[in-house]
Amino acid sequence: MTAIPLVWSEAQRLHDPGAEIWVGVRAPAVEVAARADAIRAELELAGHPVVAAAQQPDRALEAVHDRALLDFLASAWREWEASGLPQDPGQDRVVPYFFPHPGLLGTLTPVLPAATWARTGHFAFDTMTLIGPGTWEAARGAAHAALTAADLVLAGERAAYACCRPPGHHVTRSAYGGCCYLNNGAIAAAQLLAALGGPIALLDVDAHHGNGAQGIFYDTADVVTGSVHVDPGAGWFPHFLGFAGEEGAAAGAGANRNVVLAPGAGDGPWLAAVGELARWARGFEPRALVIALGVDAAAGDPESPLRVTAGGLRAGCRELGALGLPSVVVQEGGYDLATIGPLVRAALEGLDDGLAAAAAATRGSELAHG
Ligand SMILES: [Zn+2]
Repeated sequence: MTAIPLVWSEAQRLHDPGAEIWVGVRAPAVEVAARADAIRAELELAGHPVVAAAQQPDRALEAVHDRALLDFLASAWREWEASGLPQDPGQDRVVPYFFPHPGLLGTLTPVLPAATWARTGHFAFDTMTLIGPGTWEAARGAAHAALTAADLVLAGERAAYACCRPPGHHVTRSAYGGCCYLNNGAIAAAQLLAALGGPIALLDVDAHHGNGAQGIFYDTADVVTGSVHVDPGAGWFPHFLGFAGEEGAAAGAGANRNVVLAPGAGDGPWLAAVGELARWARGFEPRALVIALGVDAAAGDPESPLRVTAGGLRAGCRELGALGLPSVVVQEGGYDLATIGPLVRAALEGLDDGLAAAAAATRGSELAHG
């Protein structure tokens, strides 16, 4: 059996956020192209074949995002540059300063501001997620990688891994943030849903809540969404949501699950949470699985307080593989350049083991039943 293919978009290199603006301070960016390079180098060493991301139609992005968000992202840098803001006052990245807060507008619908410098706040929910010259091309490349991975699985691969950068799991239907621009995992899930019918399971093991997919699919059970993450109630991003009581609404009531962990949690509680999500998802009898694979839950990652080991990631992904579903893996967080490659490698090894075990169990039961 060949190793799980790695889908790669060269365009991801074009995104250089340059910085993150956090509590008003311009700090060095952690979501950098070297992350993807480190993952690719490690997976190539391990024998994973590399597949180039194929160009995809825009309608695949429109399946989960509002056209207005896509239009903004596509034009934001060009308009920022044309407005002269890089020279005066000297801001070389697109950044919001004013937001259509519900407390400002009440029941009024926010208009799209005329001023370039005000428009960003209509679409960005934080100040960390900067847009520069190649951001849109890179974000589209990452989404195309996720779609290509979905296509590989639809064509019969048991699993495919999309090395998505920038990541995507914080992006909602209409707003971006959290160093993410397009929701690659949700886009892949929508592609699987269109081809296979529902439900599709989207499980997020990044250290932070997968608020984007939760929001996009909150009212439907066609894509059931689950996330294990550090407790936002203990002071962690995305702060305002990601709590256990968020379980979906309307036709999606019961089809969202958040399992929150205390800061400092290691393999024991993390694996129990992943197992809980896997058992919960199995109950929906999904046709395919998308794994939003952040590896920032690992001990030593600068962006999270969780303390999962590479062995823990391997064991958790084995549980997800044991669901026995066609599986698309999209890269989310993971910011320690020294360990991100080996952590992704361990996760994919676990997934492969789990899928193999599920396939063997199926063969065994077919033999037993003649
Ligand atoms: Zn994260």
